[in-house]
Amino acid sequence: MIAYKFDYKVANSIEEAFSMLSSAGDAGSFISGGHSLVPAMKLRLAEPETLIDISKIPGMSGVAIEDGFITIGGLVTHAEVASSYIIKESCPGLAECAGVIGDAQVRNKGTIGGNVAHADPGSDYPGALIAFGATICLSSSEGSREIAAENFFTGLFDTAKEQGEIVTAVKVPVASSSAYAKFPNPASRYAVVGVGVALNMENSTCQSIIIGVTGAADHAYRAKESESILNGSELEENNIEKAASAVSESKEMMNDLVASADYRTHLCGVMLKRAIAKAKYRS
Ligand SMILES: Cc1cc2nc3c(=O)[nH]c(=O)nc-3n(C[C@H](O)[C@H](O)[C@H](O)COP(=O)(O)OP(=O)(O)OC[C@H]3O[C@@H](n4cnc5c(N)ncnc54)[C@H](O)[C@@H]3O)c2cc1C
Repeated sequence: MIAYKFDYKVANSIEEAFSMLSSAGDAGSFISGGHSLVPAMKLRLAEPETLIDISKIPGMSGVAIEDGFITIGGLVTHAEVASSYIIKESCPGLAECAGVIGDAQVRNKGTIGGNVAHADPGSDYPGALIAFGATICLSSSEGSREIAAENFFTGLFDTAKEQGEIVTAVKVPVASSSAYAKFPNPASRYAVVGVGVALNMENSTCQSIIIGVTGAADHAYRAKESESILNGSELEENNIEKAASAVSESKEMMNDLVASADYRTHLCGVMLKRAIAKAKYRS
């Protein structure tokens, strides 16, 4: 399908992006990689009249590490996250997650900022970022703020981001051990279910585990019930089975053409077990 006619403007600074959006009003939309917005426009699911390209804004690129935190610019592509030495060293589960997003074309154009802002229920980053304790950094003409990934994803294509805010960066603490396991839709590669796990083992005991789930419900969530079953345990088989049964957290699982709610509940348990096995091996 061919998109309708629209205006296209390129912002050369973040201030210019805010000013362009303010002039365009409700009919304006930021665009970065275009790999969620353009398909939505072609299907007339989104009909912005003015596209404001933020992909040239300086200061929103690159990956850096300082004081135990990895800072990933909002414009960093999935391919850059997947291949970053800093991320592979300090939070391998995140590189693993980025490496299984879509196909090479999607990974080369799509950005981490666009992915979290769009909040597709089948997006991979949300589950991983919740598990890895990430913070989403936002800026608007009013100022800047940070919000924990756990509180950022609020509903179907809905987040705590206000209209006009730009995701400038994502901050991720260095993880003791991290992993991501995904069951992809064979056609689109979006997650039918994806589970991220951050694990801290000491003397064969689980000191802490954080579990983030995506694809299963209308938005990504933290599986606290499963975490409490595993915290303080030696990750014995029976505890992992109990945690796997609890990971859907009594959430309403999505039930659609891709997978039934029952199948998604089953996949949540299987993906949790796979993610724990990988994180345990890496710890
Ligand atoms: C065939 C295909 C397969 C895919 N498979 C997967 C998959 O397996 N897993 C997965 O997670 N994703 C998948 N995606 C989605 C892909 O990851 C997108 O690139 C991503 O979701 C959106 O990032 P973008 O930079 O392309 O954003 P855009 O499409 O440019 O924008 C999306 C939305 O976010 C807003 N936005 C963009 N950047 C910012 C920013 N920095 N701050 C604030 N708002 C912003 C835009 O205004 C728009 O509303 C797939 C996409 C396609 C086309």
